[in-house]
This record gives sequence, structure tokens and C-alpha cells, in this order.
Amino acid sequence: MDFGPSPEPRESRPEVAAAASATFDFLVVGSGLAGIYVALRLADRGRVLLVTKARLDVSNSAWAQGGIAAALDAEDAPALHGEDTLRAGRGLCKQSAVELLVQDAPARIAELMELGVPFDLGPDGRLLLGREGGHLRRRIVHAHGAATGYAVVEALLPHLVEHPGVTVWEGARAVGLLVDGPCCHGARVQGPDGLVDVRAVATVLATGGSGGLYVRTTNPATATGDGIALAYAAGATVADMEFVQFHPTAFALGQPAFLLSEALRGEGAQLWNSRGERFMPRYDPAADLAPRDVVARAVMAEMDATGADHVDLRLDAVPTDALSPFAPLFDSLRARGVDPMAAPIPVAPAAHFCMGGVVVDLDGATSVRGLFACGEVACTGVHGANRLGSNSLLECLVFGHRAAHAAAGMEPVRCAAAVPAVLPTLGAPERAALGERLARQAGIVRRADGLADARRGIEAMPPSMEGLVASLIVRGAEVRRESRGGHFRADYPVEADTWLGHLVARRGQPLHLESWS
Ligand SMILES: Cc1cc2nc3c(=O)[nH]c(=O)nc-3n(C[C@H](O)[C@H](O)[C@H](O)COP(=O)(O)OP(=O)(O)OC[C@H]3O[C@@H](n4cnc5c(N)ncnc54)[C@H](O)[C@@H]3O)c2cc1C
Repeated sequence: MDFGPSPEPRESRPEVAAAASATFDFLVVGSGLAGIYVALRLADRGRVLLVTKARLDVSNSAWAQGGIAAALDAEDAPALHGEDTLRAGRGLCKQSAVELLVQDAPARIAELMELGVPFDLGPDGRLLLGREGGHLRRRIVHAHGAATGYAVVEALLPHLVEHPGVTVWEGARAVGLLVDGPCCHGARVQGPDGLVDVRAVATVLATGGSGGLYVRTTNPATATGDGIALAYAAGATVADMEFVQFHPTAFALGQPAFLLSEALRGEGAQLWNSRGERFMPRYDPAADLAPRDVVARAVMAEMDATGADHVDLRLDAVPTDALSPFAPLFDSLRARGVDPMAAPIPVAPAAHFCMGGVVVDLDGATSVRGLFACGEVACTGVHGANRLGSNSLLECLVFGHRAAHAAAGMEPVRCAAAVPAVLPTLGAPERAALGERLARQAGIVRRADGLADARRGIEAMPPSMEGLVASLIVRGAEVRRESRGGHFRADYPVEADTWLGHLVARRGQPLHLESWS
């Protein structure tokens, strides 16, 4: 089924001569878990350049809290982890990718431990396993309570920067891919010392998601979907962009919206409205541990019904001994003026995770030769229409492992003149306006008129990476006339079998629905 043209990137084609040049075997773009891990895996196979647009330790990965999912308990099994993942994905998970994800999880956790990640252990010396919404078993490994992401990044970074095969450029943003027909030969990078065309046999996009485009978000400002825009402009296939996960329990005061980990509800924390009513049991049998989209919509509905700008997360029902791993989280709250031991925590939903992205095969290869993607930028198919908590750090590892192996096996392709398709970025006021628009018209609850208005508004903006990513989200949301997982249409509020497929976008081609097995 075709649904009209895919969004057209409006890029600029600057003089190639304006840039310096550099050559490496492998170029990795981004320093979240996906980028760090892939660069480490490639480091013994050739010369690696990792570029990252901010500091090395600024990423969603470093902000991740709850942990990493893996079936490690005697009562658990990869197949059960797979069942929970498929259920959350609402019929759109790619079965083969989910199988790889859950089967490889224990090995990747063991590898992280060997690399020095200090996962929390119980008195018996075994890994402590937490529980999160949508997981029917305890299977979340975590470090320093709810500071897992930082603990993982902190443990891996020394291995990366001390490796003689790896060069790191901080403050260096990929602004265009070097493309020659259907092949990618590297990227144009805007660094502190100017533009550099970096040529590489394989380029790995590990640029993360696009949650930071929304005005209210749990993501750092760097999460602007750059890799999706770069790949799409270079001719790669992108899919599932309408599926955006909103986290139901982000701290309601301040920006970016500090996350109150789902692991708190896993231990018994409950949501109450401003009328003093516990509301989640009215919405779902799993109550506070229902899937994120259900909880986020319920929170919005309660805020609308009561006129409040938040609901309360109460810790009264959490056993005292289960609270201790969250001590660093509680310190952060106290620094923001709320003592969670003395008062409920004000929370509201915020944009959190992007299920769609650059379509890759099971080895992280995109539809453009020499271009790989892994982590949140990629659409492996493991999340379907909704991601199960703690599966995304895992995705970085499982598919990063495979992508590194495939990239290392690439044969160099002769290239005459690869030209960068450079996409500009928005200034702060335009970006703020785009974020407001996305939240209002392509947020938790969407409607045809709002989406059409958003599309026209974005088309009227100056061309940019951010606008291109936003138009992919809006166009997908406008076309998909049903509600499923992270995409809810008030005018089409139920799931419809006719939409059981992936909306696939490729520049110059019509947006169309595909089924994947
Ligand atoms: C607050 C929070 C809590 C979370 N908790 C969990 C959790 O407990 N468990 C879990 O599994 N998931 C969690 N997630 C989701 C998870 O953190 C992310 O999905 C995951 O870290 C993505 O990793 P990544 O390496 O793909 O991208 P990121 O970690 O986002 O890294 C992307 C990197 O690319 C860089 N970059 C971007 N564009 C460019 C460019 N053009 N040029 C150069 N560099 C660029 C960025 O600066 C950054 O370094 C959480 C997310 C947030 C925001």
C-alpha cells in the first residue's frame, strides 16, 4: 500500500574542497553505549575514529537508570523475555531480531562484567534482578541502584580512550554522509577546527534517538535524531517513525524532565491523582506496571480530568529495604526541592524513546553499502510499536556486537568522488518552536487535523536535520490511521489488522506499509 511521497530532505551541497580530509578503517558516529561498544569491538580490527558532537560522556546511555534486561534467574528463560518483548511490541516486533536479543543477553551481561561494570550484587554475591513494567519476571540488572547507564559508560570509556587503535574527536558533529550512488564512504564532520571529510571502509551510525526534539523530554539536548536524517538523506531506508515512547513518570518540575525510573513502580510505588485517588487499577489489570503507553495516556487523562499539571508518585507501599538502591535518585530529587520520603513526587509524561529509525538487518547493515546503524538510531525491529523497558541498552550491545563483526568484514569499495549531502541544523528559537509543535500535535494523543497542521508548519520552516526527522514522525503518524503501542490517534483509537505492518520511508519513493518476519 502506498501513501504518497516520503518527506524530501532539503540539503545543501557545499564545495567538497572546503573540507580537510582524513582516512580511517572505521568511522563510528556517537559515544553512547552503542558507539563506545562498537568502537571497542572494532579496535582490534583496524584504525577507528569515533566522533561525538558533545563530550564523550554526554548521551542518553549515560542517563539510563533502571538497567539492562536479561533472563538470568532460575525461574526465567530467554523465551519468556521474548514473550514479554513481543507483547509490548503489539504485533510489530521482528521475531528473528527478538530471538537474537533475548538469547544473547546473558552473554553480553557477562562480557560487561568482565569489562568491569559494577552491577549490583546481593549478599550471596549473585546479580540483583529488578522488575519493570511489562516484564513478568525479575530480570533487570542494574548498577549503583538507578545509575546504571553512567556506571556502564564509566566502566567502558577507559578501555576506549586507552586503546591505541582508537582516535576520539569530541565536539565533532557529523553533518553529512559521503555518498557515491548506493555506497557510503564516511562522513563530513564539523569539528572544533573546521570541516573534515572522514573516509572510512565502514561507517557506523550510533547517534541515538530523537526524543530531545520534543519540548518536554527525558533526553539530553543532543538527542535530535541526526543519524536518522543523515541516513535518510543518503538514501537509506527509515521505518516506524510514528512510534514514540513517552515515559509516564518524569519529574514534573524543570527541564530536561528528570526520570523517575520505572523500577520504583516495580518495587511498589503507585500513581495517585490530585483528588487523592489511586487510578491505575481503573485503566489496566497490571495497574502501575502496565505498559508505558497505557500508563502515559492514563496519566494524561487524569491530568486533563483534574486540571492538574501532574500526578503524584507515592512511595508509601514500597518496602523500606527496597528503597536503598534508589538513594542517588532521591538525592537528585532533594537537590530539586522534593524529599520523596516526606512528600509525593510530582510526575508527568515526557518524550523518552524513538522506536523507529534507520532500517537495518540482523547485522546492523542499512540499505546503503558501507553504512551501519546500531542503538536507538537503528530500527532492528526488536521494539515493534512499543519498547519494553531495559531492552534498549541491551539492543546496543547485542546488535552492536553483530554490527562490529559485519563492519570488520567489509571489503573496501573503490570510490571516485563521494559527495557530502549536508543538512543544516536549527537555531535555538526554531528548535524550541518545533519542540512545542511536536508535543502539541504529534505527542501522546494525536489527531488528523493537528498532524496535518504540524506537517504544513514544518514544511514552512527552514531546511534542517531536526525538521526532516520531525517530518518523518509527523508523516508516519498522519498516515497510520489506527492506535498501536507508542502511536495513539484519538480519531482512530483502536488497533486495526489492516495496519499490521511497518511504514517505510525512502527519499524519492512513496511511503508504504511492509510486513517483516
Ligand atoms: C533518562 C533515561 C533513562 C533511560 N533508562 C534506560 C534503562 O534503564 N535501560 C535501558 O535499556 N534504556 C534506558 N533508556 C534508553 C537508553 O538510554 C537509550 O535508548 C540508549 O542509551 C541509546 O544508546 P545509543 O548509544 O544508541 O545512543 P545515545 O546514548 O543517545 O548516544 C548517542 C550519541 O551520539 C552523539 N551524536 C548524536 N548526533 C551526532 C552527530 N551528528 N555527530 C556526532 N555525534 C552525534 C550524541 O552526542 C551521543 O554521544 C533511558 C533513556 C533515558 C533518556
